[in-house]
Amino acid sequence: MPYPHLLSPLDLGHVTLPNRVLMGSMHTGLEERGDWGRVAAFYAARARGGVGLIVTGGMAPNEEGGVFPGAAGLFTPADIANHRQVTQAVQAEGGRIAMQILHAGRYAYGPKCVGPSALKSPISPFAPTELDEAGIEKQICDMVIAAQRAREAGYDGVEIMGSEGYFLNQFLAEQTNRRTDGWGGSFENRMRLPVEVVGRVRAAVGANFIVIYRISLIDLVPGGSTWPQVVQLAKAIETAGASLLNTGIGWHEARVPTIATSVPRAAFTWLTARLRKDVSIPVITSNRINTPEVGEAILARGEADMVSMARPFLADPDFVAKAAAGRGARIAPCIACNQACLDHTFSGKLTSCLVNPRACHELDFPALPAAKALRVAVVGAGPAGLSAALEADRRGHQVTLFDQAEQIGGQLNLAAKVPGKEEFQGLIDWFKAEIAASGMTLRLGAPADEADLADFDEVILATGVTPRDPGLTIAPGAQVLGYAQVLNGAPVGARVAIVGAGGIGFDVSEFLVQEGPSATLDFATWAAEWGVGDPALTPGGVTPPRRTAPARQVWLLQRKAEKPGRGLGKTTGWIHRAALAAKDVQMWGGVSYLGAGPAGLDIMRDGVTQTLAVDTVVICAGQVPERRLADRLIAQGRAVHIIGGADVAGELDAKRAIDQGTRLAARL
Ligand code: NAP
Ligand code: SF4
Repeated sequence: MPYPHLLSPLDLGHVTLPNRVLMGSMHTGLEERGDWGRVAAFYAARARGGVGLIVTGGMAPNEEGGVFPGAAGLFTPADIANHRQVTQAVQAEGGRIAMQILHAGRYAYGPKCVGPSALKSPISPFAPTELDEAGIEKQICDMVIAAQRAREAGYDGVEIMGSEGYFLNQFLAEQTNRRTDGWGGSFENRMRLPVEVVGRVRAAVGANFIVIYRISLIDLVPGGSTWPQVVQLAKAIETAGASLLNTGIGWHEARVPTIATSVPRAAFTWLTARLRKDVSIPVITSNRINTPEVGEAILARGEADMVSMARPFLADPDFVAKAAAGRGARIAPCIACNQACLDHTFSGKLTSCLVNPRACHELDFPALPAAKALRVAVVGAGPAGLSAALEADRRGHQVTLFDQAEQIGGQLNLAAKVPGKEEFQGLIDWFKAEIAASGMTLRLGAPADEADLADFDEVILATGVTPRDPGLTIAPGAQVLGYAQVLNGAPVGARVAIVGAGGIGFDVSEFLVQEGPSATLDFATWAAEWGVGDPALTPGGVTPPRRTAPARQVWLLQRKAEKPGRGLGKTTGWIHRAALAAKDVQMWGGVSYLGAGPAGLDIMRDGVTQTLAVDTVVICAGQVPERRLADRLIAQGRAVHIIGGADVAGELDAKRAIDQGTRLAARL
């Protein structure tokens, strides 16, 4: 059997889970729209794909505990009917689902938020109201009632969210709990609330119901829990009646990335492994686990009893079924980019997935066979063309995919060379595996011309982009390179100016300041750079970051008079800015380019002219659509579809390219 540990059953006493894979909690955004039919379809697809146990997105137990005003929850009897649609759809597929009870405490983004003490968090403008004794009792009762209602709605269990700096976690830490009554002061008092909640939930729901407690194993904030406190809490939670302990890593206000693509895979399983020795209920590990191989290795090493993956189930609902069928290479990989999931969530948009635009759109964008098989030509094997070609093939069309390059992937091949973006290689490999398993014809290594495209019913042009020429004046003796040359290994001097501070300018900066293996591939280096220590040695596992010297001195420049990096991902931009700041990259806005010469780059900034004495200037000034073939075909009267960067180059990224390619082919 492939992945024997991952796919072995887990006996919880009253129920046996079919495998060791938990789909971790994620917010979809559908719940707040009242779109419960789509919520049900989303989870049912994952249940059909064989996951052992699903945990829903966080559900508020009451109004004050909602992550934002109007956040979905289970606080009225009327909510039960909505949730029942979800549980019935999952159970009809043979799946199991637990509802997460999430009380946000001072993280609730609204004026009604409550907490142990009236201390505002650094990530919210709202100071919480300090709860009195009656207020605490109300919160406990509301969580217990939510669990009872979850049982009534047909859930197989609940997960009580006790990590990530939310309400229960806020009671644990001295820095957020300054109470002097029986809920504050000593650690015994501070941990009373989570233990009380678990005990009373267990008493209310009875023995035959899964109760997961998500415990913070490393807070990554100053003044966070120490390791002995984590163990003390875990043991008390076990005694109070939890069935499983799930792992939480880092408070939301922590200045350490915990799930971004630059975080090493399985970076925090050492903490779950350590806890596992001290409790007798199963422990679940999480964070940056995205392939069955990684999950299998964790379990084989005895580091956990179960593996939680959340975003990988957006990327591929059939993760477990494919693993079980020995088709692990066919699992669409989550590249941990956050672009269509968390970045959407935090912008008030529906969650989806860069790799799988059908995620959370199962009903409005179903995968259906074509009414009539057509001959479809796709020109360009970057993300847009690949997605269009594969979707067309899956629907039964006869597809030929052309690219003038010798390999598929387009700009993804450049992204994969950037330190911290190694996951992009997994996406390219997956596209290769999908092509190999498809019926399409692949024609690489020669440009497609009008004659090649003559005999097709549909022609899709995904010819991509050409780097924009910013018109920089270049004197003899200056070394000026394009970003693709640099990422493909052209020699670059010790002092570098980068013209353009968009996503690619940031990527090229990271590439140029890095020497030796990427920290993403070496946990010890990564942990030292971000100040991740051992909670057994320092509370919260926070240590001073240890900087490593940059390989080059870099200036990252833009014309806009604002801080560079504002257009980067909502949940990841701060990581890129912090990583470059730690390498002393000078990030300047409000720059005018006067010209490049042997002495460096002449610029004007704040009305002052200066020469940056750099050896190399790298142009990262965006792109323009590559449409020469399109123009010729249109001039001949051919009807063509233009997608990806060839359609609109500005703000192009793989998310839009894959979405556009997939949706177009779904309509053919
Ligand atoms: P971009 O994000 O549009 O940035 C282009 C940069 O070039 C801007 O900083 C712009 O700033 C500058 N620029 C534009 N026209 C210029 C001109 N004529 N002369 C000098 N500078 C000029 O494009 P990109 O960096 O090529 O990235 C392409 C796409 O890939 C983007 O959508 C990006 O989001 C995505 N991407 C994202 C990431 C990420 O999030 N980590 C990484 C890579 C790529 P000024 O106009 O202010 O000078
Ligand atoms: Fe993973 Fe990116 Fe998809 Fe989110 S958008 S699930 S991080 S691949």
